[in-house]
Amino acid sequence: MKKGILYVLSGPSGSGKTTLAKHVVNTVNYVDFAISYTTRKIRDGEKDGIDYKFIDEEKFRFMIDSNQFAEWAEVHGNLYGTTIDEIEKVLDKGIDILLDIDVQGSLQIKTKYRNSVHIFLIPPDLITLRKRLSKRNTENSSELEKRMEMAIKEISRINDYDYIIVSDDIDKSLRKLESIIETVRLKTEFIMDDIFKLYNISNNNS
Ligand code: 5GP
Repeated sequence: MKKGILYVLSGPSGSGKTTLAKHVVNTVNYVDFAISYTTRKIRDGEKDGIDYKFIDEEKFRFMIDSNQFAEWAEVHGNLYGTTIDEIEKVLDKGIDILLDIDVQGSLQIKTKYRNSVHIFLIPPDLITLRKRLSKRNTENSSELEKRMEMAIKEISRINDYDYIIVSDDIDKSLRKLESIIETVRLKTEFIMDDIFKLYNISNNNS
């Protein structure tokens, strides 16, 4: 069976990427959202196994050592990772998978999954970035400055991404993400095998 396509969505925290990722799973057929493992504390309103799989550092380190992660990274002092199993079981069903991960994880995925598609969600300007970051998890100003610095570092890596969505409005961003997914699905590399099968052509190039 034809494998699904792997999409990575990155962007500074507060860019709305988690909301967007969860929306698109409902609006586009055959896309699933990968649930990451993390050592960070569960926030109010989050559910274990739905938002993340919350585990302790010892278990996370064991999973690193036993090569269970397709990618993992330390973000804001916590560990986050996506397992190979989580990705493969979806792709093997012919369903696309969307990973909401940081730039370090995105690079690891790029080297492991040659056909993966990388999308960066970016706030429209510095002022909006600061506003969005200060809304989230930022109790003091030095923490906010740290997150600003980190966000700028992340934005400086957009060259490693295939598509950029400027996130001024959630509905517009959702439409852009939907159209990226629909366009990528039309790429020759992803539909070629189906066409060859349909016309009984043996694929000598693969
Ligand atoms: P939060 O704790 O606010 O949900 O996420 C913090 C950051 O960690 C976000 O940038 C998010 O994209 C990133 N993140 C979430 N899951 C993963 C993961 O599995 N791997 C990596 N590398 N980053 C992740």
